[in-house]
This record gives sequence, structure tokens and C-alpha cells, in this order.
Amino acid sequence: MLNRKSVQSAPTDPPAGSRTRPNMSARAVPPSLAGVKHIVAVASGKGGVGKSTVSANLAYALKERGFRVGLMDADIYGPSQPGMLGAGGDKASITLDQKLTPVSRHGIDFISIGLLMDEDTPVIWRAPIAMKMIMQFIGAVEWGERDYLLIDLPPGTGDVQLTLAQQASLTGAVIVTTPQDVALGVAKKGLKMFEQVNVPVLGVVENMSGFTCKHCGETTAIFKEGGGKAMAARLEVPFLGSIPLDPEIMMSGDQGVPVVQSAGESVPAKAFLAVAERLQEEIARLKAGSRMEPVNMEMADDGVLSIEWPDGHVSRHSAYNLRLACTCANCIDEDSGRKILDSARVPLDISIQEIKPVGRYGLSIAFSDQHSTGIYTFDHLRAIDEGSGGNTESKSFDV
Ligand code: ADP
Repeated sequence: MLNRKSVQSAPTDPPAGSRTRPNMSARAVPPSLAGVKHIVAVASGKGGVGKSTVSANLAYALKERGFRVGLMDADIYGPSQPGMLGAGGDKASITLDQKLTPVSRHGIDFISIGLLMDEDTPVIWRAPIAMKMIMQFIGAVEWGERDYLLIDLPPGTGDVQLTLAQQASLTGAVIVTTPQDVALGVAKKGLKMFEQVNVPVLGVVENMSGFTCKHCGETTAIFKEGGGKAMAARLEVPFLGSIPLDPEIMMSGDQGVPVVQSAGESVPAKAFLAVAERLQEEIARLKAGSRMEPVNMEMADDGVLSIEWPDGHVSRHSAYNLRLACTCANCIDEDSGRKILDSARVPLDISIQEIKPVGRYGLSIAFSDQHSTGIYTFDHLRAIDEGSGGNTESKSFDV
């Protein structure tokens, strides 16, 4: 029987000098992002498909729809937001306590490496500090209260993208593609990366989709048509809409004003506003679903981790059961799903040394046997408590 009283009264932090209590924080969101309601990464398989253009215009479209919006230009190697938002020579200020204050343009607060380094700093100098900078962007920017924070990711699926997907508590990701960019493999790679870290793909945006003649109104598919829609269908994710190929988009970008602001009634502006509306709908749909996120987590005196779920259910997990339920590559064969952890080698008196949040989707747990490579998603934790899909050995262990 669960003794809720002892669980609830157990302090979250270990008493000073205690060696038995693990270091545990129930907070899954970095403090600088705590006031942000929805964090959406804008990604693409390759460069030049208009990812930054879509990010800037979506940010402005969401602002037009009445939201408080921030934009993080995480494209360390090719930051384009300072130019696109007309802040070419501006620099972000750094407070005494080393916090970065975003620059404000067109009602959007944004941060970019372009606001911290000179434009002519060679990419080769940026590379070694890329990850450091990304961690600064996640943890040291004063975003305050925001409805949306869009993150303009670098193209591809490298370390920077993965770190952001893991650390920035993403609500979801948007994938930008062009009609002819039906390189499904590339998009799939991106999708898989987000899936791996439990970040839902909110949908695909097809950019540079057909050219509408200003004079006769006829639309010509300069490249192919429908690639984005087909991609979304094949990846089984929502299609958020198409943005036409339009010189006005490019010129506005070059002039540092998103087309949604400079030509609000134009065809491309309306297309961006429609995509923003679809994005909002997808986020609402996602939130209405039953994503598992704990309401509260406590370590009880007996070393058992208690998790309270949104439906009021409280699950208890002993260190031993959790260790056996580890799904990391050292414990489970990735291809066959077969368990390779030898349970006889797990000490019966194993304890939890440290618990750290991983994004908004799970926990990383360090055990007294020095094992710390497993990520326990909240879905998995709930599943092993209820015995559906969990480790059978763990179910039979009496806590
Ligand atoms: P990425 O971020 O994917 O590298 P950018 O957003 O920087 O791509 O866009 C590359 C170029 O294409 C820019 O000059 C931009 O103005 C232009 N561009 C992007 N989308 C469109 C569009 N729909 N119509 C016309 N030009 C576009």
C-alpha cells in the first residue's frame, strides 16, 4: 500500500550531507523558458528551402493573431533572422547576471548569434562555440511570458538540432520543405529524430509552392506541386499548408520586414496567416490529447520514486524495478528489442543517486551501480506502473 503521507511529506531535495537521498529536480523546463506556453521548432532537411523565411513570417502571423511571440535563431552557422527582421547592425545586451536580452523588431523578440557576433566572423570560428551558444540560448535568454517561441533550427539532423529537441522542452516541430524536395529519406530522418526524443511533428509546410501571376491571377507550378502534401501523407503527419513562390516574400525578407507585415493583404501573407492558424489548431489538438506529464514527483524515505499523474493516479517505482526497466542500448538490443541486461547483476539494494528531467517527456536516472544512460519517458513510466508493456520481472518485485 502506498503511504501517500510519507510520500508527500518527503522533501524533494536531499538533506545536506545525506548520501542516501538522490539529487532530484521535478522541474522539466529550463527557468528561462518557464513562462513560454508553446515552443515550436521549425526544421528542414536541407538549407535554402525557406525555413528562416517561414519562421519569421509565422512568428509575425502569430503576433498578428494576438499572441506574444519570441523567435530563437538557432542557425548558428547561417543566422538569417537579424537580416530578415531588419536588425542587421543590432547587438543583444547581456545583463550583469549574464542573461541575454532579446532584440525586439516588428513586435517580435528574437535572439540570434548574429546579434552577438560580427557578421564577418568566419563560420570556422563559430563551430567550436556552437553547442555552448545553443545552451546559452536555451538557458540564459530572458523570454519572460510568451505564448509562442519559434526556434529556427539549422538544416539537417546534427548535434545542435538534437540538443535543442532534447533540452528546449519543445511542444512540437514543423518541417519545411519545397515541392520538388521529395527526398523523403531526409524528412524521415528529421521525423525520426523528433520521434526519438518524443517531440511530436505538428506538420509539414510546403514552401515555394506555385507562382501566382499578379496580373492574371493564374498559378503556375514552377517547381513540382504537392510534394509537401504527399510527404505529410506518407509520414502520417498533418499538412499545415503551402506558401507560394513570390518575389514579394524575397524582397520583404531582404528589406528586413516579414511579408505578413509589409503586405498583409497579399496572397503570400494570407498563406502564412492560414498556416499559423493550422499550427494553432494542431497544438490545441495535441494539448487536448492525453500526453503523459507528471503533476508531481517525490522520493520517499524508502528510496521509492512516487509519480502523481494528471488523472490523480500515483505510481511507485523502486530503484530495482526502474533499473530493470531501462531501455537504453546497453540494456535492450536496439534491433530486436531483446533484453540484454543480465538482471542477476543488478544489486537488490540498488538505489537512485540522481534524477534529472529530460525535456518535457521523461527522466534520466543515475543509479548506484553507475548506470545512467537510460531515458525513462513518462509514457514508459506510466506503462511499467500499470504493467502494460513494462518489464515483467519488475512487476513481480514487491516494493
Ligand atoms: P533557409 O532558412 O531554408 O536556408 P531562407 O529562408 O533563408 O532559407 O530562404 C532562402 C532564400 O529564398 C531567401 O532569399 C528567401 O528570401 C527566399 N525565399 C524563401 N521562401 C520564398 C518564397 N516562398 N518565395 C520567394 N522567395 C523565397
